Amino acid sequence: MNNIPQNIQNIKSQIGENCTLIAVSKTYPAETIIQAYNAGHRVFGENRVQELLSKKDLLPNDIQWHLIGHLQSNKIKYIIDFVSLIHSVDSEKLLQAIDKEASKINRVVPCLLQMYIADEETKFGLDETELYHILDNLNQYKHIQIAGVMGMATNTIEQEKIKSEFNFLSNLYNKVKIKYFPNETTFKHLSMGMSSDYKLAVACGSNMIRVGSLIFSMKD
Ligand SMILES: *Cc1c(COP(=O)(O)O)cnc(C)c1O
Repeated sequence: MNNIPQNIQNIKSQIGENCTLIAVSKTYPAETIIQAYNAGHRVFGENRVQELLSKKDLLPNDIQWHLIGHLQSNKIKYIIDFVSLIHSVDSEKLLQAIDKEASKINRVVPCLLQMYIADEETKFGLDETELYHILDNLNQYKHIQIAGVMGMATNTIEQEKIKSEFNFLSNLYNKVKIKYFPNETTFKHLSMGMSSDYKLAVACGSNMIRVGSLIFSMKD
């Protein structure tokens, strides 16, 4: 039997108050998600725009939806007016496209810059050169608030490898904060850690974890 409220409670007690838990509800139906909602949880993450939109219609209005997966430019317009945080800005072009859509509705949209930290061909993200290029040209984005960085570690059981990837991102987050956002409280999210590696992520400084299967998946 799966106990979603208990799962959330367990994870929250392990990560502490300064770390935000994003309940990643991708692939789970609205009837499952509502169990987390009814337990008081309000922050959910989805990785596909279409899936997010169809579930959003079935669920309460006060949910904060985070987009955590690769975003195609032509889909931005469907989420731009309500999305709480976009974790997955993985190119300068995408950032420009988000800025353009946000300007049309006169909204400033909080975004995280997704860094490529894994040793895998399949993961999206910026390298450091691309990151600094964006940061050096921040004044061109009038409708974006850069709220932090995000990354996904390699899918491996080698803890040392995961740890070094998380430490790399954590150091980068701190460097960027000092250099580009020294007096701003808006740059504040270090989004790293999923079901398999969130404890390590938090130990490496994460303050926002994205956990799906550990909350929602059925196990006995
Ligand atoms: C699916 C997903 C997660 C959560 O993965 P779990 O292993 O189910 O916790 C976190 N981040 C991203 C970007 C995802 O796509």
